[in-house]
Amino acid sequence: MAEKIRQCLTCADCSVKSCMHKQEDKYPQFCLTAKVDKELLAEAKELYFEDVNQNLAQTAAEVESQFYGKYTRVQETVEFIKRYGAKKVGIATCVGLLNEAGVFAKILKKHGIEYYAVGCKIGAVEKSEIGIPPENTLTKGEQYESMCNPIMQAKILNEKKTDLNVMMGLCVGHDALFIRYAEAPTTVLVVKDRVTGHNPCVPLWTYNGLYSKI
Ligand code: SF4
Repeated sequence: MAEKIRQCLTCADCSVKSCMHKQEDKYPQFCLTAKVDKELLAEAKELYFEDVNQNLAQTAAEVESQFYGKYTRVQETVEFIKRYGAKKVGIATCVGLLNEAGVFAKILKKHGIEYYAVGCKIGAVEKSEIGIPPENTLTKGEQYESMCNPIMQAKILNEKKTDLNVMMGLCVGHDALFIRYAEAPTTVLVVKDRVTGHNPCVPLWTYNGLYSKI
C-alpha cells in the first residue's frame, strides 16, 4: 500500500482552465495563476527574448497556429526543423526503433535536411561496467547486455554540433539523461511505451476501466 501524502491542489485538479483566456472571475479557489509570483512570471517572460528561446517560441507558435489539427507530429517536426532553421539535426534513437528512425531520416533527407543518428547502445558498454547489478538486467547477467548510453548519444551529437535534436523512444530516465547532457535544444518525436505501441496516454484514457484494476 502506497504511503498517503499531503498534496495541495494544483492545475492537475482543475477542470475550468480559465487561465486560457484570462477569465479571472472563473479562476478556482486554488488557481495557480491567481496567486502567481509576479516577479518569477516576469523573469520567465524575459527569457523568451533570448536568442534561441525567441526562435524556439516563435517557431513553435507558427507551427501550432498554421498546422493545428492538420499535421501529424512527424510533419510538424519536419516543419519545425525547417522554420527553426536547423542546418543539422541530431536523432537520438532507441535501437528498438531503428526502422522508424530510418524512415524519419529518409523524410529529413527528402526535405534537404542533414541529420546524424545515434542509437542508444552506442559503445556497447556492458551494464555491469556502470555498476548495474545482474538482477537489474533483462537476462539476469546470463548474457552480455549493452547498456543504453544516453550520455554518449548526447556527447556525440554535441561534437557533431547539431542545431536541434529529435529524441525517438529513449527509455524513461535515459531520456532525462540525454536531455541533461545535450547542448542543442531537444524535441521529442516518440515517447517509448512498449505496451501501448508508444502511446502513453492509452492507460490514462482508460484509467476508469481496466487500468483501475492495475
Ligand atoms: S492556472 Fe488556474 S485556471 Fe489554469 S489550469 Fe491551473 S488552476 Fe486551472
